[in-house]
Amino acid sequence: MSLGETRHLDLHMHSTASDGRLAPAALIELCQRRGLSCVALTDHDTIDGVDEAGQRAAELGLTLVPGVELSTRWQGVGIHVVALWCGAPGAALGALLARQAQAREVRAEEIAARLEKIGLDNAMARAREQSDGARLLGRPDFARALVEAGLVPDIQAAFKRYLGAGRPGDVKLHWPDLGETLTAIADGGGVAVLAHPLRYRLTRRKLSMLLDDFVAAGGEAGELVNGFQNDDRSRDLASLLAKRELYASLGSDFHYPGGALAPGTFSPPPRSALAPIWQHSRLVSAFTAAERTGAADTLSGETP
Ligand code: AMP
Ligand code: MN
Ligand code: MN
Ligand code: MN
Repeated sequence: MSLGETRHLDLHMHSTASDGRLAPAALIELCQRRGLSCVALTDHDTIDGVDEAGQRAAELGLTLVPGVELSTRWQGVGIHVVALWCGAPGAALGALLARQAQAREVRAEEIAARLEKIGLDNAMARAREQSDGARLLGRPDFARALVEAGLVPDIQAAFKRYLGAGRPGDVKLHWPDLGETLTAIADGGGVAVLAHPLRYRLTRRKLSMLLDDFVAAGGEAGELVNGFQNDDRSRDLASLLAKRELYASLGSDFHYPGGALAPGTFSPPPRSALAPIWQHSRLVSAFTAAERTGAADTLSGETP
């Protein structure tokens, strides 16, 4: 079976609980329409959408693996870690999430102050308008505020000029250290997955260092595929992950309908000896329902 026929899984997606555009229940409905059977909701720094998604998933017969994508810092680089778990997140992760919410708040104030200097008056209020005031603010809220104020033509330009890596609105200093985050995930029984390792624009040497530190601090898995990736780089990533005996995860990083990516859409994983994350002993029961429907074939690498 080719991967194109077995896209039952997606372990990295966003909802309106963070910067996605579909409510958790609507996201699950879309996943069902697309034939997925096992999905994880991994909003940025919050699990506010997990209950709603889990409920809709149960109604529709899908398996929802609870998750979150945590913002962390490693050697001055903003690194994202997806945590997946079975049942409840655990006290340590709960405490970390409370601090992440605070960090997002403080960071938003600082981003706002920086954007006011470049001409976005009342930046905080404008960003809150974009978020309906209900959820934690993120850079996309400021990006939309910049577009609406006419300071940039589109979201891409907003990131390129003001919010992307190294730009004034890219405030990382409030995020916890990578190691601290990994400890909290492990304490609560969760499994830490290094999100999109190829998207940090690190040299191969620096990525190897990141992976070594990640493993030393208790990280157990990496996203072998996140959205669309170059096949050669995927193969190289597989060998970097295999060398450290990490489990492999995959997902679309879906945010909104109408873009290039839909739930369950990502480049085919390369053939590899990596163990898929659904075989991890602490997650196996979270994935059980999906295994019955064949989702477990996706990373097998046995087929062309
Ligand atoms: P934050 O979590 O507040 O740091 O915001 C990061 C989010 O902004 C990412 O998860 C993406 O959804 C979005 N993002 C990052 N870079 C870009 C970009 N160049 N264009 C559009 N969205 C982006
Ligand atoms: Mn996002
Ligand atoms: Mn990310
Ligand atoms: Mn993401």
